[in-house]
Amino acid sequence: MKVLVPVKRVVDYNVKVRVKSDGTGVDIANVKMSMNPFDEIAVEEAVRLKEKGVVTEVIAVSCGDAKCQETLRTAMAIGADRGILVETTEELQPLAVAKLLKALVDKEQPGLVILGKQAIDDDANQTGQMLAALTDLPQATFASKVEVAGDKVNVTREVDGGLETLSLSTPAVITTDLRLNEPRYVTLPNIMKAKKKQLDTVKPEELGVDVTPRLKTLKVVEPAKRGAGVKVPDVAALVDKLKNEAKVI
Ligand code: AMP
Repeated sequence: MKVLVPVKRVVDYNVKVRVKSDGTGVDIANVKMSMNPFDEIAVEEAVRLKEKGVVTEVIAVSCGDAKCQETLRTAMAIGADRGILVETTEELQPLAVAKLLKALVDKEQPGLVILGKQAIDDDANQTGQMLAALTDLPQATFASKVEVAGDKVNVTREVDGGLETLSLSTPAVITTDLRLNEPRYVTLPNIMKAKKKQLDTVKPEELGVDVTPRLKTLKVVEPAKRGAGVKVPDVAALVDKLKNEAKVI
């Protein structure tokens, strides 16, 4: 069984992002970029399934400009067997990515697609669900445990009241939650090995997908700055402020 793992290149989670002065978006010039953390978890899970012998090939796919090759090399250093870059300089929204992934699902026929539950730049949490709808495949989102059992896959999800386990028939779409696994450190020998792995490039047109954005960003603003706090002398003063100033009790 093949597994397709979509990996997005995003601003590194340690970077404090800055909004562009004209409010059109976030400034990503000279900013450290990395693989979306949930996608690293997805690659790790796919590689673990391969190590268990239930998966034969792990294919990483990234949609975006040529620099996404770096993200694919990282996925291959974790253990993905090959990479596909869907190259475009167009701004990609979740529906466009889901359509590109559907075209690749049709071509590669994977038994599983494991995506991150959300990209930490757009926080959309849409692509996996849209892909499941477009491909008409069963989906299990926010997975905290994945077990392949024959032609079924059992997925445990954290829900409000505890844990829910779903049994899906494959092929299926899964999205990863934070507690699914802890991705391994990428070692230098594996980085070197990854450089020799196969990386194919396709254009959205070759996949027959129109990626024109459907949504327009009106403006992006920084969160309001928090005002300075005050020290209260005692509990009585605190209660008084909560009651009479903040009016929350
Ligand atoms: P989102 O719906 O944007 O929050 O993204 C959810 C997941 O979809 C991500 O964690 C990735 O697995 C996948 N994804 C989104 N955008 C891309 C992209 N440009 N290239 C590859 N995978 C993507």
